[in-house]
Amino acid sequence: MRITVLAGGVGAARFLRGLVAAAPDAQVTVIGNTGDDITLHGLRVCPDLDTVMYTLGGGINSGQGWGRADESFTIRDELAAYGAGPAWFTLGDRDYATHILRTELLAAGRPLSEVTRVLCERWRPGVRLLPMTDDTVETHVTLKASAGHSGEGVAPVVHFQEWWVRLHAAVPAEAITPIGAGTATPGPGVLDAIAEADFVLFPPSNPVVSIGPILAIPGIREAAEAKTVVGVSGIIGGAPVRGMADACLAAIGVETSAAAVAAHYGPRLLSGWLVDDQDKAAADDPACAGIAIRAMPLYMRDVDSTASIARAAIELAQELA
Ligand code: GDP
Ligand code: CA
Repeated sequence: MRITVLAGGVGAARFLRGLVAAAPDAQVTVIGNTGDDITLHGLRVCPDLDTVMYTLGGGINSGQGWGRADESFTIRDELAAYGAGPAWFTLGDRDYATHILRTELLAAGRPLSEVTRVLCERWRPGVRLLPMTDDTVETHVTLKASAGHSGEGVAPVVHFQEWWVRLHAAVPAEAITPIGAGTATPGPGVLDAIAEADFVLFPPSNPVVSIGPILAIPGIREAAEAKTVVGVSGIIGGAPVRGMADACLAAIGVETSAAAVAAHYGPRLLSGWLVDDQDKAAADDPACAGIAIRAMPLYMRDVDSTASIARAAIELAQELA
C-alpha cells in the first residue's frame, strides 16, 4: 500500500506516528510544508520538516511536540549575552546542530530535498520525507491595519513565525500569503508520490498555514484532485485542539468548524473527512455535500488512539477509492 500525506508540524507528526503504527507495511511518503521556514542567525530552520523527522525518529521533545528531547540552551544564552535576538524564537543546542548542517549543505549548493534526505539518514523516520519544494517559500502575515499595533515596533507585514510565536496570533491577520508558492516548482518526487499513491491523506494539520502553502504550489492541488483524498479534522467542537488555527481561518474568512474546513477544501479535492463525534452533524451539513463524512473520537491522546484514527482514515480511503 502506498500512502502520501501532506503535512505540517506537530499535528501531522503525531498523526504520522499513529499511521506508521496502523500500517507498518505501507510505503508512506510525507510532503512537508516549508512555508514556516525562517533564517535565524544565518541558519535555515525548517520547523515542520524537523518536527516530523524528530517525532518519527524518536528525537522529539514529546511533551512540547516540537524541538529536541534533553535540550540545553547554551547557544541561545550566549547569543542573548551579546544582545543578539530575536528573543522570541528559541532554538536548543541539539537543534542548532541540525540547522548548522542543513545550512552548510545548502550553501554547498545541495537542494533542500537532498539535504532533508541526508538529515533523515540519521533519524530513519520510517517514511520518505519530501519538502513540498526546493524553492524558497515563506508564509507572511499582513496584520489588520486597525489592530492597534502601530507604534509598537511591529511592521504591518510579518513573517508567519513572528505572528505565531512572538504575537501569539493575537493581532488579527488581514491576509496570510505563502510568498513564492505561486512560482515554485514541486520538489523532486512530489507529484509522482501523489500520482502513484493508492490514496492521499491530510492529517489534522492547519488548513491555512500548513496544508494551504503545499496546495498553493502549481500542480500539487491538481495532482491531489485526481486521487482519493481523506482528511482528518484538526477542529473539534468549534476549536483547534491546540494552537491558534482559528486565527488563521478567520483571516481567510472560514468559520472554525469541522464542516467549514471540509467545505473550504471542497468536494473536488476532498473525498472523505473524519470529524470528531462532537461534530457528527457535519454529515448532514449541505456545505459538505459530495464529501463522505465519518465521525469518531479524534483526540490523539497516545499512539494507540492515533493509530485508530489512522486506521479509520485508511478504511474510508479504501472504501472511496
Ligand atoms: P504545526 O505546523 O505545528 O502547527 O502543526 P500542524 O499544522 O500539523 O497541526 C496543527 C493542528 O493540529 C492544529 O491546528 C490542531 O487543530 C490539530 N491538532 C492538534 N492536536 C490534535 C488532536 O489531538 N486531534 C485532532 N483532531 N487535531 C489536533
Ligand atoms: Ca508549522
